[in-house]
Amino acid sequence: MGSLFREVKGCIHIHSEYSPDAWAPVEHIAAAAAEAGLDFVLLTDHDTLGALEAGKEGWYGPVLVAAGMEVTPPVNHYLAFGLREVVPKTGGPQAVIDAVRARGGFGFLAHPFSPGTPLVPGSRAPWTDWSVRGFCGLEVWTFMDDFMDQVQTLADAARYFQEPDAAIGGPFPQTLETWDRLSRAGRVVGVGGLDAHAFRLAEQVGRLGLGHAVPPGYEAAVIFPYRQMFQTIRTRVLVDAGAWPSTDPGPGSARAAIDALYAGLRAGRCTFGYFPLGDFAGLAWEPVAEGEPCGVVGAEASYRPGLVLRARVPAPCHVRVLRDGNPVYEGRISAGAEWPAPGPGAYRLECHVPHEGRLRPWAFTNHVYLR
Ligand SMILES: [Zn+2]
Ligand SMILES: [Zn+2]
Repeated sequence: MGSLFREVKGCIHIHSEYSPDAWAPVEHIAAAAAEAGLDFVLLTDHDTLGALEAGKEGWYGPVLVAAGMEVTPPVNHYLAFGLREVVPKTGGPQAVIDAVRARGGFGFLAHPFSPGTPLVPGSRAPWTDWSVRGFCGLEVWTFMDDFMDQVQTLADAARYFQEPDAAIGGPFPQTLETWDRLSRAGRVVGVGGLDAHAFRLAEQVGRLGLGHAVPPGYEAAVIFPYRQMFQTIRTRVLVDAGAWPSTDPGPGSARAAIDALYAGLRAGRCTFGYFPLGDFAGLAWEPVAEGEPCGVVGAEASYRPGLVLRARVPAPCHVRVLRDGNPVYEGRISAGAEWPAPGPGAYRLECHVPHEGRLRPWAFTNHVYLR
């Protein structure tokens, strides 16, 4: 079954010059993505489809760029894809979700437990309305959120901007709990995101009222350049192999590849993780019946006794299998393992790796749904 799919890797939740608070041309972002070895980037500019309207979707060498938008009211930000026209940010979160669906798109609740930081006024933008329906999923792990959670004072900033990896702790427990709870009722897709803006240091120092404290030589410095961000949280998606050109993509193939990427995301055929702890290429999680896979990650299958859940990991790690949010198996595996499914439920796999004396969250699969 896996042979029908090809696994592609990329980064989600990227702001370009079409966002009022970012500056980079799409060409700059695509070049950074190519240097980082990505297959795709998903742009999500604030309240605009400017990149799409300017004809910036498509292949940039080996990198596919697709343009969604981040619908950005003060809270309840929504990452929306598959749109041809802008969705207004007014009317409340359910109206935004409905408007995206009515236009044929789909979306993810952005940084749903955004902690923000007092250092950046207005940076706290969580999801506040959990009665909503009709969204595709959640941004389960957001690089900037994870980082900012640790950067609450200027002393924190001084430390963690020198050593950003030390601030990265994994998806917030509330986000994982919410994801698992929502998944009991139906498919809720989890993705990793960046919220990349590549803020210019000088502009931020001015904006935050820190005085003209940019040291000589740093006037043009950028906080988290795209190339650096693209080496952090990545999402890997299983796409229809026939729709993704293996070499030298022609301009005509971009539409089919974007559609295939969106189809993979909507089906939950994805994993996400933190690249500095190791490449998680090939991480697999699938239901197996009578020795044969009966689906891939994201699949819904009917539960029957004897059904097995199979994991394949690209490197030895400590895994945890969760059923409806409750751990049912845990232990170290080196390459692969199988566990009998104890009953119906939404099952996902977490991989953790030892790093400097502690186990760190590394990679997460979407759920397999046994109904
Ligand atoms: Zn946002
Ligand atoms: Zn954003």
